Amino acid sequence: ENADLAEKTKEDFPILDQLISQSTDGEPKPLIYFDSAATSQKPKQVIKEISSYYETINSNVHRGAHILSQRATSKYEAARDSIAKLVNANSRNEIVFTSGATEAINLVASTYGRENIKEGDEIIISEFEHHSNIVPWQLLAEEKGAILKYVPLDPETGCLDMKKLPELLSEKTKIVSIQHVSNVMANINPVDEIVSLTRSLGSPDVKIILDACQSVPHMPVDVQALGVDFIAASGHKMCGPTGIGFLWGKEDILNSMPPYMGGGEMIDEVYMDRSTFAKAPARFEAGTPAIAQAIGLGKAIEYIEEIGGMEKIYKYEKELAAYLHKRMSEVEGVTCLGPAVGENRAAIVAFVCDNVHPSDLSTFLDMEGVAIRAGHHCCQPLHRALGYSHSARASLYFYNTKEEVDSFIDILKETLAFLGGGALEGDDDDFVP
Ligand code: PMP
Repeated sequence: ENADLAEKTKEDFPILDQLISQSTDGEPKPLIYFDSAATSQKPKQVIKEISSYYETINSNVHRGAHILSQRATSKYEAARDSIAKLVNANSRNEIVFTSGATEAINLVASTYGRENIKEGDEIIISEFEHHSNIVPWQLLAEEKGAILKYVPLDPETGCLDMKKLPELLSEKTKIVSIQHVSNVMANINPVDEIVSLTRSLGSPDVKIILDACQSVPHMPVDVQALGVDFIAASGHKMCGPTGIGFLWGKEDILNSMPPYMGGGEMIDEVYMDRSTFAKAPARFEAGTPAIAQAIGLGKAIEYIEEIGGMEKIYKYEKELAAYLHKRMSEVEGVTCLGPAVGENRAAIVAFVCDNVHPSDLSTFLDMEGVAIRAGHHCCQPLHRALGYSHSARASLYFYNTKEEVDSFIDILKETLAFLGGGALEGDDDDFVP
């Protein structure tokens, strides 16, 4: 029933239908784009929406009396409604546009965090986190004299070591910030368990932040059912443009937070000696926003609904993920990271290869038209815990197919055989920036 998703959407992604000509044999090769965890491709509908915005209604939002501004404002605000509906927010006022997940997490750390975290308070994150969910908390902890604690990796399961969470939690725990899905290990974290442990063992006013960067684009996410206080996500990983993402937060919490940036739009009244501030979301959207990008993201969400919605994408990708993982785990000399075959995983497989450095592998795969990523994927602590400095990563979206997986496996085997002869030793101390 879901097998037709890539076929049905094929025409919408002209970028995927191209030949890459940098092969050593001089033959152009079909592009296999397996790097959607870094950024997804954008359908024609989204690209058109952005150019149509500039061609027909370009103007500044919220402040214009003229028709262009009214039209731009209504589209910009409609995008907020689409996000609110997508994640089942209680109110549209709970959606704050940011430049991406990184800014959303930084916003919480530097407003809620600065106001509420005191010396000796504890912040819990995990060893799996993307740097964007580590560094903002390090900066806050350093400024406030707070303590940052990590839920470790369980090397046996490739998942969070959930047994350790109750030992880390205490009345001193003021913030827990954990990812929903790992961009390396592909594990889907048990948010229910994290929330119930945190609410029962943490401080009575503990706040839970979910880095939903790798879940919102791929599965239904219901913020009310999850029971967290904030989520952060990026539009560019879900068919939208770069430069736009969002923070969802409970309305009363958002309105209790000090502002983030000062400027136009975020105020109520400005006097020479003081200002009062607007309520959320305007409170956190100082200055001219990324209007075309927000409208593009709104279109991306509409597109996702039109092709069958998140439930359909989730089911399609689940099958594709299992297929990719199984096939990769059968390739000699390849070690897949994360939970074992058969476990519930997202459509991401990070891996290391015997005697072949991930960067060399990705360079040679690139020549064959295969786009994957090599590096630490902004997860250095996780890679240290795993004992590798780098990994290669294949990551899929609904426009990928089993046929592409088959071609990828063939090309991977050939490339490994080619590189295996003159294998380069991994340079384990050298992190790719
Ligand atoms: N968290 C996770 C799990 C991610 O995969 C990413 C993007 N790779 C981010 C956060 C940061 O997202 P962005 O760079 O779009 O702000």
